[in-house]
Amino acid sequence: MEIDLKKIRMLSKKKWDENWKFRSFLKGYDITIEELDAIVHKFYEQVSSEIDCTVCANCCKQVTPVLDQEDIERLSDSTGISISQFKKQYLVEDEDGEGFTFNRRPCPFLKNNLCTQYYCRPKACESFPHIHKPEFVFRLINVVENCSICPIVFNVYEYLKGEIWHHDDLETLVFILDKNG
Ligand code: SF4
Ligand code: SF4
Repeated sequence: MEIDLKKIRMLSKKKWDENWKFRSFLKGYDITIEELDAIVHKFYEQVSSEIDCTVCANCCKQVTPVLDQEDIERLSDSTGISISQFKKQYLVEDEDGEGFTFNRRPCPFLKNNLCTQYYCRPKACESFPHIHKPEFVFRLINVVENCSICPIVFNVYEYLKGEIWHHDDLETLVFILDKNG
């Protein structure tokens, strides 16, 4: 398993085309959504149990989560700043018009690699990197993009390739060789 962020960034760049090819493969792979989720969740459990997010904190440095009204109200309460002041001080409107995001990276609430608003953090932070959620197959664009940011995503995707892609390719190759004598 790879946990060095620098190496992960470099490897993800190198594997960029391969990762998109694997996405296409998964889209057409003959497996149910639930079966694929079960494999992914098994790898997620394994990988996340071996990674310490408080040492990494890379998502808080690289990703800008989208906050909805409920997230903003919770953070405004927790910080003791009015909603309008909180927006002015910490947020900008999200480009896609889905809500607000923090106005800087790393996140203003990250201190010494820890979230100072951990118990009030936005829902998008709480569920990042979203690998444990159902319907993995419908979130593959984000998965490929997050490979270079999150060691959990990077390693789960690599394990998945090893489990079903290269194995499958090998079977296809053996089948072709057998067929051609
Ligand atoms: S609110 Fe906390 S968990 Fe979310 S990005 Fe900021 S520091 Fe990270
Ligand atoms: S979720 Fe991923 S990027 Fe965020 S701290 Fe954990 S391992 Fe690092």
